[in-house]
Amino acid sequence: VPPRKTVRDYIRTIPDFPKPGIMFRDVTSLFADPRGFRICVDQLLDPFAGQRFDKVVALEARGFILGGAIAHQLNVGFVPVRKAGKLPGATLSEEYQLEYGEATVEIHDDALAEGEKVLVVDDLLATGGTAEAGVRLCERLGAEVIGCSFVIDLPALGGRARLERMGLRVETLCA
Ligand code: IMP
Repeated sequence: VPPRKTVRDYIRTIPDFPKPGIMFRDVTSLFADPRGFRICVDQLLDPFAGQRFDKVVALEARGFILGGAIAHQLNVGFVPVRKAGKLPGATLSEEYQLEYGEATVEIHDDALAEGEKVLVVDDLLATGGTAEAGVRLCERLGAEVIGCSFVIDLPALGGRARLERMGLRVETLCA
């Protein structure tokens, strides 16, 4: 009997996307597989068994796919952190640095209440800039970030260390 595939086995790497020299980790092949998607969501939740959450906060766009499934499983609400200009209501924003230039992410200013316990979710952790901005938005609304979960960690890019320096708990499924 061949060994069962792990989460990592369902992820494709596409060379030279979105530009030459970048090895893009593609999770669409993971999400497209019924077993792959289920074990991924289950494994993201495993380390937090017994932990109470009030909200799942996910980062645009692939984070939404995971965050929706996780929120449903936890029976809690879902809150999107979106790129600037997408959310219709009043927002808080955070700017952060990209390799070239900067980006802005936003959250609705009434999306989280003081003291709410939050899990922050995205598909991939690289430099940690996106996740740090998302965490800051949660914290500015008075929420408590219990943990940050990602399918893929690219440790060479320092994201985990950066988030752990902020005192955050970081959980990832594969490198
Ligand atoms: P960071 O802000 O440098 O940690 O980059 C993480 C963000 O970029 C996440 O929202 C990811 O979805 C996205 N990202 C960066 N590299 C990849 C990749 O190879 N595959 C999928 N998403 C990526």
